[in-house]
Amino acid sequence: MRNLLIFILVLVVIWWVRRALSKPRGSDPRAAGRRGGPKNAPEPMLACDQCGVHVPESEGVHDDNGFFCCEEHRRLGVRR
Ligand SMILES: [Zn+2]
Repeated sequence: MRNLLIFILVLVVIWWVRRALSKPRGSDPRAAGRRGGPKNAPEPMLACDQCGVHVPESEGVHDDNGFFCCEEHRRLGVRR
């Protein structure tokens, strides 16, 4: 009998952990807010002015002429 109670307890714990790990969409806004901190904020994707590839702003290079995906394309400049 005691083993059965422990078994049920284990099942309840597994169910509870799985429920906590699955992402509740909109059911608990406070939990969602904690998960999506400033670090997880979406980063703007910018198009390279040389080749047109979209890269995250932090991975590209800014200069006076525009935004480029890499140092090489910044040297080449804006393609007209
Ligand atoms: Zn480029």
